[in-house]
Amino acid sequence: MDPQGNFTAAHPSRGTRLRTAPPGVLPYYLVVEAGAVVLAFAVPSAPPTGREWLFFAILLGSAVLQAELSAKAERMQRFFARNPHISVNSVWIFAAALATPPVFAAVLTVLIYGHLWLRMADVPGARPYRLTCSVATFVVTAFAARAFADLFGASRGVAATLAAGLTFFLVNTVLVMIGFKLHEPARPWLSLAGSASENVLDAATLCLGAVAAVLLTAQPWLVPLLVLPLVLLRRGELGRRLEVQSRDHKTGLLTISEWRARAEAELDRARHHRGLCGILMIDVDHFKRVNDTHGHLAGDDVLRAVALAVRSEVRIYDAVGRFGGEEFVVLLPGMGPAHAVGVAERIRDAVARLVVEVAEGAKRIEGLSVSVGVAVHPAAGSGVDQVLGAADKAVYEAKNTGRNRVCVSR
Ligand code: GH3
Ligand code: MG
Ligand code: MG
Repeated sequence: MDPQGNFTAAHPSRGTRLRTAPPGVLPYYLVVEAGAVVLAFAVPSAPPTGREWLFFAILLGSAVLQAELSAKAERMQRFFARNPHISVNSVWIFAAALATPPVFAAVLTVLIYGHLWLRMADVPGARPYRLTCSVATFVVTAFAARAFADLFGASRGVAATLAAGLTFFLVNTVLVMIGFKLHEPARPWLSLAGSASENVLDAATLCLGAVAAVLLTAQPWLVPLLVLPLVLLRRGELGRRLEVQSRDHKTGLLTISEWRARAEAELDRARHHRGLCGILMIDVDHFKRVNDTHGHLAGDDVLRAVALAVRSEVRIYDAVGRFGGEEFVVLLPGMGPAHAVGVAERIRDAVARLVVEVAEGAKRIEGLSVSVGVAVHPAAGSGVDQVLGAADKAVYEAKNTGRNRVCVSR
């Protein structure tokens, strides 16, 4: 887990300045920073050998190269992230903690983050105090990991490496969680630990760190070979994050902004090729009654079931979004009015057949219906707003003429 990520873009109140941060944040940061300084200067270590200087230089060079190659992904991730996210820097820092004097791991951390700061200082929310605390967190973490590895003697066997990895993971996670909790006391502890997949990725970076440490002692010049896989790991993580953010949490459908972006691109294409593109607007009938009769949680179950029914009646590349509350939108590229009405009727049918098992109270809800408005580009207009507006009018017509029906924009 990356404290830098957490305390910059990941923080919901991103951009918080230290003087406006909640009480407890400043003392905590000072304690961690003081701890890092004491460890770096007071822990005795033997003078570094020439080989250890070489290891240090290789790790630093690899880290800088990897940061340069991932700079764009890094900037985007810092901008988008809401939750703790993975830092691939722990690969280099963990390897340094195992294979060089721990003070080298501390200096490496300072240099890696110094470089990152030079490249990222203009990203919204970047604050020097957070960077300083991130560095301090990693320094304390690296010393703790090394101390556990040393308990197993001078040779870095399997047990020593595993103990060091586990220590690195736990100390880093706990320090970051405390910082987060002080920033946002209302957030439950568990949510501060990150998702399962984030923690798996975190563990994966430490595995690569252990591999880097072994490589260093065997074939140091092969360590830079890890750079490219790490760059891809970073991009994959960003892609996954963007995918999650483009989804509505309740239904798993596209958020309206993502749907709109796809609709705009598709209508652009249709304009360019003089093609067709259908849009459906779907509104669940009397949905308020479902809530009033069975409760909002049951209402949510119904929304999910309707979303699934819509999704299962369209083609894989038709974009389905949640427009708002109990309204859904469907983009049907290349489809004219006759086909679009056919799809709308299939959806109406599928919803009418739904039997929703409600988790709460073991009830079943059936007899659902939807009103669907159909509009097609270019007849209904050329832009998304025009076509969507036409589909919306058609929904009103369906509502006014008795609901549970499909109406086409005229
Ligand atoms: P109509 O047939 O005219 O569309 O009637 P309706 O009851 O479906 O429409 P109305 O706009 O009166 O009510 C929509 C309701 O949807 C009101 C709102 O509380 C509920 N709603 C909106 N979002 C959610 C949600 O995420 N979950 C649940 N359970 N209810 C929601
Ligand atoms: Mg509505
Ligand atoms: Mg409704």
